Amino acid sequence: MKKRKAVFLDRDGTLVHPKHYPSRPEELQLYAGIGPELRVLQKAGFCLVVITNQAGIARGYFTADDLQRMHEHLTSELAQLDVQLDAIYFCPHHPDGAIPDLAIHCDCRKPQPGMLLRAATDLDLDLRASWFVGDILDDIEAGNRAGCSTILVDLGTEQQPGRQVRCPTFVARTTLHALRIIRAVEQHGSSIELSYRPPSWPLVPAIGVEA
Ligand SMILES: [Mg+2]
Ligand SMILES: [Zn+2]
Repeated sequence: MKKRKAVFLDRDGTLVHPKHYPSRPEELQLYAGIGPELRVLQKAGFCLVVITNQAGIARGYFTADDLQRMHEHLTSELAQLDVQLDAIYFCPHHPDGAIPDLAIHCDCRKPQPGMLLRAATDLDLDLRASWFVGDILDDIEAGNRAGCSTILVDLGTEQQPGRQVRCPTFVARTTLHALRIIRAVEQHGSSIELSYRPPSWPLVPAIGVEA
């Protein structure tokens, strides 16, 4: 059977409004208007998979059970919009964590691609046909390392990337814009050239979408 493709979504700042170490369900607030667009992509055959670093667990700010409650809330909020998440992967680690077992250098904390690789195995995904949407360059690096097309949602926090592996395929103004870029490229192919600029303009080099 043909492998499925996915839209991987970072959580904080991408699916929900950015907050400093949210630990309660009501602190996760979905961006307005993304439900219908997620539904379009889901109907087009994409798995929707959340990929999130949760170093707050290693730091002792909240527990895996707290996170579970938050994610049940997020899942039900999305279900009310007729959007079904296929999976949520989180990394509970941080090298400077306060909880000894979790204070490690792992292979899942973004910019490492571990969570995407695990999802690809679990859900039988074609990573090269998949997309990663995130609001920081660590998301972009993880997506690029996994072989996905990548979209940076510009929240104004990121400097121009210095290394190719951190260059997004596209940059979007909002998550809604990012999801619409995916839809446009899926419908029309890479010939749509959404990121064309005059060659004389100084620019982050585009990585380009696989045809
Ligand atoms: Mg984020
Ligand atoms: Zn980890």
